[in-house]
Amino acid sequence: LMGDVHCTAVVLAGGSGSRMRTKVAKQYLEIGGYPLIYYSLRCFEKSPLIRDIVIVASADGVDYCRREIVERYGFEKIRTVAAGGAERYDSVYAGLKACGETDYVLIHDSARPLVDEGIVERTVEGVRRFDACIAGMPSKDTVNLVDDAGVVLTTPDRKKVWIVQTPQAFSFPLILKAHEKLRTLPGGMEGITDDAMVLGKALGIPSHMVEGSYQNIKVTTREDLVTAEALMRETVVTEAVLPVW
Ligand code: C5P
Repeated sequence: LMGDVHCTAVVLAGGSGSRMRTKVAKQYLEIGGYPLIYYSLRCFEKSPLIRDIVIVASADGVDYCRREIVERYGFEKIRTVAAGGAERYDSVYAGLKACGETDYVLIHDSARPLVDEGIVERTVEGVRRFDACIAGMPSKDTVNLVDDAGVVLTTPDRKKVWIVQTPQAFSFPLILKAHEKLRTLPGGMEGITDDAMVLGKALGIPSHMVEGSYQNIKVTTREDLVTAEALMRETVVTEAVLPVW
């Protein structure tokens, strides 16, 4: 299917999960009988499109992650558990440096346990065509840009508003170069929240959106845990109605 093209998944688990207000970092919280991070690792482990996996844990969580996740559940595609940094982009960079030789990387937040094989297929297919391809969905809600006082500035055309998810897939040399370039620029990483932004800001290369899913939520606060658990309990059939470009 992939010929001899190599794709590495970088799974981010370096955050502290402060918005969850729990002792255990959210990526290790149990949901449906398994730690949150287990689900995305299982998806990549099972995917024939993924050759190997790099996990990025917080520096003081590397041993825990090796023991309680990789060894406990017997994942076999894990190349390494790398130590992350203070910001998400520091953790991504640590993950990229741990990749070794590969053609493409799929960068994924462990906080999105409902990633599935279809999303992986679409992002991998997209990155082979476009070199930069990220999962997302059209916004169901109207989105406002507001000023510091909460006053509405503009309301972009909802048909053109997409919410951004992970995985985000890139040509490996391109995204590595983009991170390296932006890290050396003073203030380069200001306001950066994902890797498509890094590629765009550093190299002027736009990313293509592909269909993620409305179930592929990011578990950030407590109510998200309830939602994710409910979604895991049953397969919700959703119609794919999005354009293919
Ligand atoms: O905090 P937030 O939900 O935006 O984090 C998104 C993802 O980035 C999470 O999976 C988190 O573990 C990861 N992250 C990281 N290193 C950081 C901050 C966040 O790997 N320093």
